[in-house]
Amino acid sequence: MYHPENDPQFAGLAVNRGVEKLPAVNPYFKKTKTRRVYTPAEYVEGILQGNVTILSQAVTLLESNKSEHQQLAQQIIEKCLPHAGNSIRIGITGVPGAGKSTSIDAFGMYLIKTHQKKLAVLAIDPSSERSKGSILGDKTRMEELSREPHAFIRPSPSVGSLGGVARKTRETIILCEAAGFDTVFVETVGVGQSETAVHSMVDFFLLIQLAGAGDELQGIKRGIMEMADGIVVNKADGNNIDKAKLAAAQYRNALHLFPPSDSGWTPKVLTYSGYHKTGIREVWEMIFDYIAFTRQNGYFQHKRNSQSKFWMYESINEQLKSRFYNNPVIVKELLEKERQVLHSEISSFVAAKLMLDRYFNL
Ligand code: GDP
Repeated sequence: MYHPENDPQFAGLAVNRGVEKLPAVNPYFKKTKTRRVYTPAEYVEGILQGNVTILSQAVTLLESNKSEHQQLAQQIIEKCLPHAGNSIRIGITGVPGAGKSTSIDAFGMYLIKTHQKKLAVLAIDPSSERSKGSILGDKTRMEELSREPHAFIRPSPSVGSLGGVARKTRETIILCEAAGFDTVFVETVGVGQSETAVHSMVDFFLLIQLAGAGDELQGIKRGIMEMADGIVVNKADGNNIDKAKLAAAQYRNALHLFPPSDSGWTPKVLTYSGYHKTGIREVWEMIFDYIAFTRQNGYFQHKRNSQSKFWMYESINEQLKSRFYNNPVIVKELLEKERQVLHSEISSFVAAKLMLDRYFNL
């Protein structure tokens, strides 16, 4: 039968015998995406061996809100606890643009190269305080450290209340310490409540300031200055050196007005340049002096003990709140109570009491 496909004038359209189709499954293709699920003992073993891939996965578990992940994470943390606590924990804060990432890069590389230390860089950045995907989200902010095998950089857990985020960071510190990181930085942006949370989990609190940015206190609240064990004025380079020195003198004067600290330590004020890497050694000397001083007078352990106590209560508060608000009965009845309060049928206090009584009698 005539068919145009077979007509010589349409030769280009001829239907050739096909090439046999290749098998859909390539025998050489290895699946790399699936993540092995480890047992708690395997996680712990990997962490104790300093395996950062397993460490990262364990941190991901503890950041997860799924209850099975949480349970697994808690088992891991419990087994890591006896191996934790052996690091120096340093909180770092400063307004955006103060040079935190540049400085952490410089401080960290100095420590690793000069003192052969292992550094973990964590952050607390509840999403409410900054636009999403910001702080530490981008590892290139710490260019040298991010390529350094002796550094472990972990962005802030991104969702949740400040309390929840802070708890996760604190638990991450434990895992990092068990993995052999002997220095931990906890970075936070110096504009909100998170400094208090960071202060409650570190041994030394460092405030990075700028010179000549108009208002000398740069929106840094007095309370944050009061928490600082050291204030460092960054960008003391080029034409800015004198201004930085002047600012440092002003901070020293301001610090005189504060009551003496519980540690017996007088906070120091230094100038440096994170970008040009000058004055970095002096910053570390200050931190090491502080650690030696507080170890000697017993304040170091005293502070750690009171932090543990504080975190026990924080953890109870967090869990009470989360169980209450996630209870399906409460979720339903709260809406009705809300309506009654809005219509002035009952007072807020009565409504709260009724709901709490209801929860504890469930
Ligand atoms: P962060 O927001 O606090 O993390 O600040 P960054 O580290 O991102 O620094 C903000 C800007 O300040 C960047 O453009 C840096 O290059 C610059 N910067 C940081 N440290 C220094 C320094 O020591 N000297 C100078 N001149 N610039 C710096």
